[in-house]
Amino acid sequence: MENKVLVTGHKNPDTDSICSSIVMANLAKHYGVDCKPVRLGNLNKETEYVFKHLNMEAPELIEKVDEGQKLILVDHNEKAQSVEGRENAKILAVIDHHRIADFETNEPLYYLAKPYGCTSTLLFEEYKKAGLEIDKVMGTLMLSAIVSDTLLLKSPTCTEKDVKAVEELEEITGLKASEYGLDMLKAGTDLSTYSSQEVINLDAKEYEKNGKKIVISQVNTADIDDVFSRREELEFAMEKEIAEKKLDLFIFVITDIINTSSKIIALGADKELTEKAFGKKLDEFDSMMLEGVVSRKKQIAPPLLEVID
Ligand code: MG
Ligand code: MG
Ligand code: MG
Repeated sequence: MENKVLVTGHKNPDTDSICSSIVMANLAKHYGVDCKPVRLGNLNKETEYVFKHLNMEAPELIEKVDEGQKLILVDHNEKAQSVEGRENAKILAVIDHHRIADFETNEPLYYLAKPYGCTSTLLFEEYKKAGLEIDKVMGTLMLSAIVSDTLLLKSPTCTEKDVKAVEELEEITGLKASEYGLDMLKAGTDLSTYSSQEVINLDAKEYEKNGKKIVISQVNTADIDDVFSRREELEFAMEKEIAEKKLDLFIFVITDIINTSSKIIALGADKELTEKAFGKKLDEFDSMMLEGVVSRKKQIAPPLLEVID
């Protein structure tokens, strides 16, 4: 077992999960807690861009934790999205900006949840409260996470707090979100080197409600048609995943980060749930266009979970 407290984001980690685990570990150190940031999966190309820019190593990859391991969770709380073995670990704290679902501990803990656009925005405020200076590295990690989660402040999940944090972080880091951030987002849209199975798992999140198992997977692009041209092989990979994980529904979301809209492909026995949730029919390719929809957390998961009874 690792003696240090492990700080971890969710499976299929995104930029916020990776960056916020480092930022949180650094904050905890300030309070005398010896922490080590870890990750639960490979870096995507967007996050790779951040670490290249900083010329810095990414956190260590882990697959599971031992019994009694002390943990701090960032950017998630749901069991299905968490590290393997967490049911026998000891969760000391959670810093998150998602809905709270099937979360239970045996002992008291710190739990900080705010409906902000990004975990790093919560952490930004915590640094300020602690009177802790934000250096360029921490600032860049926070800025990257916020730009990623809010799609350059354009997502409906973006709050005033996120905007303010980005303004201050631009000052601290000397970076411009509209330049650095856009390059970072663009780096993440390159799916050319990934197999279909990798594409559908890059940013996949699993949800459970009333015994139904759903995966919603999302990729960013500047050209929806380009990704959709791989539809047949993507659907093949989705069907395989549905069979292996016994899913009731798999939704693949292709999000246009320039025009802020998404096209979804829905497969599985319960694919009609998407028609109910979004009030639209799936076309002959099991897909539908959702104008103005970019946020899984705010615009896709809630209406979908709502129609499961
Ligand atoms: Mg995340
Ligand atoms: Mg996040
Ligand atoms: Mg995300």
